[in-house]
Amino acid sequence: MPVERASERAHDAVLRHIEDSLRSGGLKLGDRLPGERALAEQFGISRASVRDAIRALEVMGIVRSATGSGPNAGTIVVSDPSSALGSALRLHVASQRLPVKDIVEARVMMETWSLAHAADAEWEPGQAEEARRLLEAMDDPGLPSPAFTALDAQFHVALSALAGNSVVSTMMDSLRESIRGYVDDAVSTRGQWHDIVGELRRQHWEILEAVEARDGERAARLVQEHIEWFYARTL
Ligand SMILES: [Zn+2]
Repeated sequence: MPVERASERAHDAVLRHIEDSLRSGGLKLGDRLPGERALAEQFGISRASVRDAIRALEVMGIVRSATGSGPNAGTIVVSDPSSALGSALRLHVASQRLPVKDIVEARVMMETWSLAHAADAEWEPGQAEEARRLLEAMDDPGLPSPAFTALDAQFHVALSALAGNSVVSTMMDSLRESIRGYVDDAVSTRGQWHDIVGELRRQHWEILEAVEARDGERAARLVQEHIEWFYARTL
């Protein structure tokens, strides 16, 4: 027991140090962390504890480790918040600790906010075109439903990004796999795909047109109706 507690503390000390360095700017994106041996000496802990801490940071999407001796070798600060949040959320939805109903409410909240604000935001070049390209791909009548639902989730992430809020975008991107998951489940257990795919296409184009016309109020209302309409069919 005491041994375990000591190693937990060692691991926390490394994580805290790295967090402090990121906050103060001592460590920035693209920087390399000191080597395992150097960190072990700095903190007076075992190399195994250092490895544990690095692995935890990797899972959180804060660093990426590359082996070898080239210029890209070592542990680099990357920051990829949505991939880490995304896999955590997906697992918690799978464990049913995060009910689909709550995912749906959260997306209604974020997507209506995003589309209302996208109307007045300055869009990055190519952002709106990306949403349109996704809808065009979804118009393919031969597209299997899993491919459609993956593009559908991407479309919602792309639309939300138009608001230009990086925290909301990251949260939406993290929800992407959870959204695709519940839509896929509904489609495969209900088997009513052919009845609804045409309606989904129509709703998506209507939403995009409102967004492109910078009609935030209408876009927000349409996206809410779209999400709730589909969810009501899965109950
Ligand atoms: Zn949709």
